[in-house]
Amino acid sequence: MRVIGTAGHVDHGKSTLVLALTGIDPDRLAEEKAREMTIDLGFAWLTLPDGQAVGVVDVPGHIDFIKNMLAGIGGIDAALLVIAADEGVMPQTQEHLAILDLLEVPGGVVALTKIDMVQHDPEWLELVQVDVEDTLVGTGLEGSEIIPVSARTGQGLEALTEALVRVLADVPERRDVGRPRLAIDRVFTVSGFGTIVTGTLSDGILSVGQEVEIVPTGLTARVRGLQTHKQKIDQAVPGSRVAVNLTGVSKEQINRGDVVTMPGTVGPTILVDVHVRMVSDSPWPLEHNQLVNFFSGAAEVPARTRLLDSEAIQAGGTGWIQLRLSEPVALQRGDRFILRLPSPSRTLGGGVVVNPYPGRRWRRFRPEVVQMLQAYYSGDPVRIFQQELLRREPASLSQVANASNLNATEGLKALETLVEAGAVEILDADWQRQRDDDDDRTTVRPGLQHLVSSEGWQKIKARITNTLQKYHRQYPLRMAMPREELKSKVQSRRGHGWSLSLFNDIVARATAQNLIAETGSTVRLRDHQASLTPKQQTAVSQLLQSFERNPLSPPSVAESVAATGEDVFLWLVDSGQLIRVSGDVVFSAEGYGKMVEAILEHLQSEGSITVAQVRDLLGTSRKYALGLMEYLDSQRVTRRVGDTRVLR
Ligand code: GDP
Repeated sequence: MRVIGTAGHVDHGKSTLVLALTGIDPDRLAEEKAREMTIDLGFAWLTLPDGQAVGVVDVPGHIDFIKNMLAGIGGIDAALLVIAADEGVMPQTQEHLAILDLLEVPGGVVALTKIDMVQHDPEWLELVQVDVEDTLVGTGLEGSEIIPVSARTGQGLEALTEALVRVLADVPERRDVGRPRLAIDRVFTVSGFGTIVTGTLSDGILSVGQEVEIVPTGLTARVRGLQTHKQKIDQAVPGSRVAVNLTGVSKEQINRGDVVTMPGTVGPTILVDVHVRMVSDSPWPLEHNQLVNFFSGAAEVPARTRLLDSEAIQAGGTGWIQLRLSEPVALQRGDRFILRLPSPSRTLGGGVVVNPYPGRRWRRFRPEVVQMLQAYYSGDPVRIFQQELLRREPASLSQVANASNLNATEGLKALETLVEAGAVEILDADWQRQRDDDDDRTTVRPGLQHLVSSEGWQKIKARITNTLQKYHRQYPLRMAMPREELKSKVQSRRGHGWSLSLFNDIVARATAQNLIAETGSTVRLRDHQASLTPKQQTAVSQLLQSFERNPLSPPSVAESVAATGEDVFLWLVDSGQLIRVSGDVVFSAEGYGKMVEAILEHLQSEGSITVAQVRDLLGTSRKYALGLMEYLDSQRVTRRVGDTRVLR
């Protein structure tokens, strides 16, 4: 179902033309009849030559009533710009044209009315026509058909309806995304029925009996009846003009600009990120912290500007701004709006809501903020997904898909594209394993928990590197840092810490990329080596020499510590150069290897061995033999059975 809206200078014949086209007098109020001027929105409908029923929103042209025009024009498919042939283009013609352009109304036709009054002067008519063409250049209506008509004689009316068919054929059908929204442009009561609201329905179907919510008040009501073009219907479709009879709310509880929705689908907001374009002939720039009137759908509220990428936006310019609305309004991404100066009352510019719930005040002049808004503005699901990931990473696929307003399939598709482009890393260990098994295709499964942008991954790696470097510098003789300590140091400070599974996946990924090496419960930089001072080196080589001289009864732990200092001794053990078998007994790696070899040989031929046999076999003392065997038990090489040991 389609809706067209009239626009044009006051007294140029809009209402008369609508009456001539539809047979319905849109000037419905007695007051309007008296003043012969449309002071509120009038509604009518007609059937076009191709059989389609089209709603007509007739908007007032008088400057004082511009806001009423905005209320009606939000949801129209095409504009019917009315220009009287005797007067030609006038100031409000231009202002309305600028508004149609800012609202990006998808198409339009110009009706050059009252041609009966200029019939005697064909040259004048031609002049006006050329002037109109010139006026349209550079606007969304550039190149639109210009149809000369007379509401009085009926001349050109058929040609006009045919032109409307052509223009509507090029306008895409309204989307049905299952979330009906009706911006209320009128509310009144009818005795015997109660509260009636009217508006143009978008984004979904409304049905009789359905429960609805009025945003921003949050009141709920039930749809008692529906009408389109004065016909009772059970269901209203997107793009149609609808009158909704509501039960459960009174006329006083509803305001023009409120929105009828399905409960829970559209939230009210007071902070919005928008892209704005200034009208080309604005005498004033748009400034930071300026008070403006914000119009969107049927709502009008004062708002304050926060210019994000400039100090001021000049006539014809564009920019990114954050608006703080003085009252909550139901808005969604993609909604159009107009900004007007409150006094003198003038249109400054307009544009599109890019981010209806930023949730925070952005700092100005931040390239990353503008980048994020540009991504939203592009409407490209991949860019939006990337931005939402950047805002909350590390995050799961479902978190990012929800925030991006994408369903599961769309989210997965966006993720696949980003992974293939190398812009996103999936840290999940099982996904990595799966991909390694399947090397010719990047398989992405839903339910992925740990996504991070490639920039984010670089940052995490840099934090790990810095933390480990510091640790290695502080403890030059320790081989590695305990995992827990590393986790607490590198997890992001803001928000929550990392879950263990995320940290494990990060360590696994950094290990796979050869940044770090894991040894049980510790982690070190892959190429870290302990470093000794010359004095420590001398002490170490002297100590190792005495181990070599007496491999079977070497220096004790206490003697070794006395010779090198505790740190160096621990490093010798950590790095595997010394094997500490008990609190007091320590061997060189080589000596230990030989002893174990001899013991294993004996065990293999004899089946078992006692401590005394070990002492005799190695020609050492009982203390060393006992320490060694207990150590081998603890290493699960041997098992104690009474006084003997057997192989495990
Ligand atoms: P609106 O303010 O744009 O809605 O203009 P109206 O429809 O109220 O028309 C303004 C005046 O122009 C009225 O007096 C109409 O009778 C007159 N008018 C409208 N259309 C025509 C037309 O085609 N020919 C002539 N001669 N007068 C017209």
